[in-house]
Amino acid sequence: MVQADCGDAAATRRLGAHCRAISFENEWVDLEALAPLAAEGLVFRPSLAALEPLVNKRRQRELLERLHLPSPRWLPLERLIEPLPLEDIPPPITADPVEPRPVFDLGFPLMAKASTGGYDGKGTLVIPDPAALEELLERVDPTEWILEEFVSFDQELALVACRDGQGQVAWFPLARTHQHQHVCDWVLAPASVDQAVEALARNVAASILASLDYVGVLSIEFFYGPGGLVVNELAPRTHNSGHFTIEACRTSQFAQQVRIVSGDNVADIDFDGPGALMVNLLGIEQSAEEEAERRTALAMLNGAHLHWYGKREPRPGRKLGHLTVLLQAATPAELELEADRRLAEIRSIWPLPPA
Ligand code: ADP
Repeated sequence: MVQADCGDAAATRRLGAHCRAISFENEWVDLEALAPLAAEGLVFRPSLAALEPLVNKRRQRELLERLHLPSPRWLPLERLIEPLPLEDIPPPITADPVEPRPVFDLGFPLMAKASTGGYDGKGTLVIPDPAALEELLERVDPTEWILEEFVSFDQELALVACRDGQGQVAWFPLARTHQHQHVCDWVLAPASVDQAVEALARNVAASILASLDYVGVLSIEFFYGPGGLVVNELAPRTHNSGHFTIEACRTSQFAQQVRIVSGDNVADIDFDGPGALMVNLLGIEQSAEEEAERRTALAMLNGAHLHWYGKREPRPGRKLGHLTVLLQAATPAELELEADRRLAEIRSIWPLPPA
């Protein structure tokens, strides 16, 4: 076993001496530090080249633009402080004044996002007005942040897809995700959306996977609403929105990742419907006894599968575990009702942290 900080390239080299391929479980990958190891012959799956546009939110937006895939309008924060190119400087004031061209036309509110290092809403800020934007500009390095339009959506959706070394692609069912203060709260699979929406999501995934010659599991978060399906974020790894696959699919997202990274082909997913609800257990203020009681009560719920992560610091708001329940209802409408009922049952035992 090699135990070291995930940015420790020397330890990664030692690990490489014991295995045929190395993969990642988060996107905080130091590509520069790993490049010499890849040059020495160490195999990374996905490859470092495939990860390059994915480990940074700005590069993700550029990739989506290059592939003509739907994503929110955005701009680098630094664009706001760049001097205008000469041809854009308004002519001197004449009797007939010319309005200066607006440099920025996304409107408020805006979303500001750190290009790297963010997760669970950390590094993501709603910017309600120009004053908040000024404040951000004073506080952060503008080359490390992007601004994007605030998307009005009805639902958030997520798709976990995977591609093996032979180029074969598979998709888990499109799921609906719900966030509490920018942190995933629950996931319902399948999402009750038109088949065409799922087909589009699958196409988006296939385009990204093929264009990057990506090998491994890739997760995509979408907004879905009046503007159609729009990509929010890409994650080059297994994902919280795919935890339901442990119980609900013959091959889970984790099993696929292990298969693919070790050179096997993708296996049949076989979603064992009609549905599954996954609820995150976010840290709340409580004593150790209260926590133990709540966990016992959750584990005893009908058809519930409790996963407890054993984190050493169970801070409020942190993901401490999750619970998956397999649903029984026969129609999509009934499935939503059943999910609502099960969610209320779970929340009565383990509430959300206060807003
Ligand atoms: P993280 O990397 O921290 O998960 P995300 O980009 O996924 O950050 O944002 C977290 C949540 O914030 C999203 O799930 C969504 O609810 C909200 N959000 C993010 N971007 C936008 C946007 N452009 N418009 C509206 N809401 C957004």
